[in-house]
Amino acid sequence: MRRAFLHLGAGCLTLATIVGTIPSARAWYDHTSVMDRVQKRLEAEFPEPGPGNTWNGRLPLEANAPINRYYDVASLLLLQPRAAENLPSKDARTLHDLLRLGAEDPDHGIDIDLPDSADPSDDRRYMGGTKGPSSAGFRHMFWSGWDWRKPFRTFQIPARALGQAPDRIELLANEARDRFRKGDVIWGGRILGWTIHYLQDLTQPFHAVEFPTFEMVPLRALLAWPPTEALDRLIRESTRVVTNYHWAYEGYVRHALLAGDASPFKECFEKSGGTLFVNSPRDLALEIANRSIERAHETGEALVAFVGHHLKEPAVSVPLNPKQIPVEELLKSPEKTAERDRLNKITCESLRLTTDATIWITRWVFAK
Ligand SMILES: [Zn+2]
Repeated sequence: MRRAFLHLGAGCLTLATIVGTIPSARAWYDHTSVMDRVQKRLEAEFPEPGPGNTWNGRLPLEANAPINRYYDVASLLLLQPRAAENLPSKDARTLHDLLRLGAEDPDHGIDIDLPDSADPSDDRRYMGGTKGPSSAGFRHMFWSGWDWRKPFRTFQIPARALGQAPDRIELLANEARDRFRKGDVIWGGRILGWTIHYLQDLTQPFHAVEFPTFEMVPLRALLAWPPTEALDRLIRESTRVVTNYHWAYEGYVRHALLAGDASPFKECFEKSGGTLFVNSPRDLALEIANRSIERAHETGEALVAFVGHHLKEPAVSVPLNPKQIPVEELLKSPEKTAERDRLNKITCESLRLTTDATIWITRWVFAK
């Protein structure tokens, strides 16, 4: 198996055109459903967000009204100007809502169809292409590079580090902090929400490695005829299969999060997983990405055991047919108890990290 992969690099030039056809995947699918639980602990542990601010006090409406200020922010932070009217946070009226809705903003167009100058390392070529919804992916992921000490867990094409998530987290966290210090609560809060989005993305293992498990690689694609096409076919099929599992995972987790008190993840947000010993937003991002590599293999294996091997079948495309994943049955079926418990356990660790990272960055932004 290893030999087959060592040869994969030669096919990477075609990867962009292949992955470019796949709709963008969204970590945790819906960040507001994650934030609804995260913010309970955040606001209990950190009740005063800076002098004179409260989480639920109404912000002056006129301060938020000129969404036109988005155009200035977009040119400063290299964002897609067209996204101005699509931001869920444009309706926020409290600091609580700015974080909750701001954490959803980055999946609504701010990173798509950017000029080449926003991607000097040409990462989009390997992470979703340069056009359309999937062109945002390079800012929402970070694959830290192939590491010979963990050759399978870190296997990726190409072998260098890919993705801007840590860079964006560093940039946005500093911008949010500066704005709060200058008294700009509206944009400080919104940009903190954005920062939280990218951190939460990195806690989802599919955003920290290209292949969570080799189980997701359909090696039979190598048997394609003529042999010159076998490699392209393997890459195309791997991407399709990984995307199917990525979407299946997020669909299931979202459904389980929305189950209220019956959610198997209810307690994952209530207690810290331990102190995060880091000094800066960038170090936080890298630490989280590293921890996600450690959870990726178990997440991938548990997921395949839970939802089944059929997502590898040639006719299956979960992004095009999300109903192919019976989320209600997965959440409740008694026959699936052992597999479900296994996946829930490792997912709970990711959600605990999501909460801890959100609290860490919020404290950092408000620190003196
Ligand atoms: Zn994202």
